[in-house]
Amino acid sequence: MSEKQDLSFFTRVVHAGADDGEHHGALSVPIYHASTFELPDADEGAAIHNEEKPGYYYGRLGNPTQSALESAMADLEGADSAIALASGMAAVSGVVLSLLKTGDHIIAPVSGYSTTANFLNYIAENFGISSTFVDARDSEDYASALQENTRLLWVETPSNPLLNITDIAAVSKIANDRGIHCVVDNTFATPFNQQPLSLGAHAVIHSATKYLGGHSDVTGGIVAGRKDVIERVRKGANKYFGGNISPNAAWLVLRGIKTLALRMERHNFNAFAIANMLSGHSRVSAVHYPGSSDHKGHEIAGRQMSKGFGGMVSFDVGSFDAGKVFVNNVRLCKLATSLGGVETIVQHSASMTHATLTPDERARAGISEGLIRLSVGIEDADDLIADIQFALEHIR
Ligand SMILES: *Cc1c(COP(=O)(O)O)cnc(C)c1O
Repeated sequence: MSEKQDLSFFTRVVHAGADDGEHHGALSVPIYHASTFELPDADEGAAIHNEEKPGYYYGRLGNPTQSALESAMADLEGADSAIALASGMAAVSGVVLSLLKTGDHIIAPVSGYSTTANFLNYIAENFGISSTFVDARDSEDYASALQENTRLLWVETPSNPLLNITDIAAVSKIANDRGIHCVVDNTFATPFNQQPLSLGAHAVIHSATKYLGGHSDVTGGIVAGRKDVIERVRKGANKYFGGNISPNAAWLVLRGIKTLALRMERHNFNAFAIANMLSGHSRVSAVHYPGSSDHKGHEIAGRQMSKGFGGMVSFDVGSFDAGKVFVNNVRLCKLATSLGGVETIVQHSASMTHATLTPDERARAGISEGLIRLSVGIEDADDLIADIQFALEHIR
C-alpha cells in the first residue's frame, strides 16, 4: 500500500482496485452475477467458510466485483480495509449497530444528513442506544457532551445541507483519548478533498450514490477504516442484515471512481465561482460555503480539505415562497434531491429533504425556510451562473 500511496491521487483513482493477476487481464473488472460459488472440495470449503483462506461462497457475503470496489476505497481513503453496502444509510446503520449496543451513547451533529438523525432518533433509540446532538462547529461541543457510556463520536463535515465544518483531528483526539470511536461521514468532501483517517478518525462512511458514483445512476454505500471496525461491520450488520451492494451497483461505483479526481477538481472550481457570485447578489441573504473567507469553519476547512472545498453550496433566498420561485425558474439546473452527480442539482430543503421535520425541528437544525442547496455539477461555470442569476431575478 505504501508504494501506491506515493502515487498521485489522480493516478490512483484510475488504477485503484485493479488486480492484474485476475479476471484474465480484463481492464474493467467483470460483473460477477453469482449468488453462490462452487467449492473445490470439503476441506477447502471449510477453510473458506472459516476464513482461514480467502475465497467466495455466497453472494450476500461478497463477490470479486464487490471486492475490487472495497480495495479501491481502502486505497483511496488510506484505510486498512473497506466494505461496500447497498446505500449510504446501510453504511450509517451498519456502523452504528455493529459498534454499539443497548445502553451506549452517541454524540452527533445537529446539522447533518436528516435521515442519519432520524435513524438515531427513531431506530437506534428503540434499541436503547441514545444520542446527544451538538453544534459540532467547535470540538468542545463533543467534549462537553461526553457521558460515561459514550462510545461513538459521529462527524459529518462539510455537513448536509449547511456546510458546517467540524475539526476532524480535534474530535478524533477526544475519541482516542477516551478509547472510543470517531466515524466521519465523508460524502460531501470525498477522499479527493479530505482524508479523515489520516487525521485520526477510525472509519469513514460514504453515500456512494453521490460523488463516488458521480452520475446519478446508482445507489451504494461504503465504510472504510481500521481493520477492527470493518471486521465488526462485515461480521455484524452486513452478514445479519444482508445489505451488501449488488454486483452491478459495485461496478458502476468503480467506473465512477476512475474519474473522481477530474470531476472533483471541476466541482471545486465551479462551486467557488458560484459561491462568489451568490455572495454579491442582492436577492441572496446568506451563503454557506466553506471556501468563503467569512465562513465560520473556513480556517479548519483550509487545514483539513487539502485540494478544495467541494461542490456543495447552500444559500438563503429569504422565504419559503422565494425558495419555490427560485427552483421553479432554473432551466439548466435540475430540481431534484440527491447530489454529487455531473449535472447541477438544486433543492429547496424546507419543501424537500427536511419536509418530514416539524418547522420547529427545522429551525433547530438551522434550516431556514428559504434555504436552497446547490450541488454544483461539472458544466461550464458561466452557463451555470447565468442560469442561477436568471432564476434569482424572478424573486420579487
Ligand atoms: C445521501 C447521504 C447519505 C445517505 O446515503 P444514501 O445512499 O441515500 O442511503 C448519508 N450521508 C450524507 C451526507 C448524504 O448526503
